[in-house]
Amino acid sequence: MMDLLTHNAKETRAFAARLATQVQRGDLLLLHGDLGAGKTTFAQGLAEGLGIAAGVTSPTFTLVQEYRGGRLPLYHFDLYRLGGPDEVFDLGFFDYLEQGGVVVVEWPERLGESLPTERLDITLSAAGEAERTITLLARGARHTQLLTALEEQA
Ligand code: ADP
Ligand code: MG
Repeated sequence: MMDLLTHNAKETRAFAARLATQVQRGDLLLLHGDLGAGKTTFAQGLAEGLGIAAGVTSPTFTLVQEYRGGRLPLYHFDLYRLGGPDEVFDLGFFDYLEQGGVVVVEWPERLGESLPTERLDITLSAAGEAERTITLLARGARHTQLLTALEEQA
């Protein structure tokens, strides 16, 4: 488990960018938190840290956006508008985990029972106007290793 407090959006992006330097193919990052907590901001930092030039936005009509051109491909899901768990299969969500990139998911609760057990749970929560607590919890051997690498990073 890892806990931190950021004081503005830039700090959240910088932390996510640092995490991005440690991620590997097939890693799954779940972003929990209310509307405005900073999930998309965190995803932007991940893209920056992977060296992706295009800016990450909140997709309005698409549930997934692919970003290439960085160290690894980034698949950014925003499941806010997901109708139900069946739609997850139609979307090919589980195929994305096999595609050799990094998968980051906003509103992962929408996946219901089908949440993979190998994952990094990241919870953002407002602690003031511009303060956010960020809690990282690893599930499974690979993501435990990822969190350890992040903790040991200078
Ligand atoms: P979500 O995707 O969770 O709905 P967004 O990332 O789209 O949230 O929006 C978060 C908003 O909060 C942005 O306008 C961002 O600039 C602002 N913000 C203020 N402080 C922070 C912080 N410490 N971390 C992340 N975002 C912050
Ligand atoms: Mg968002």
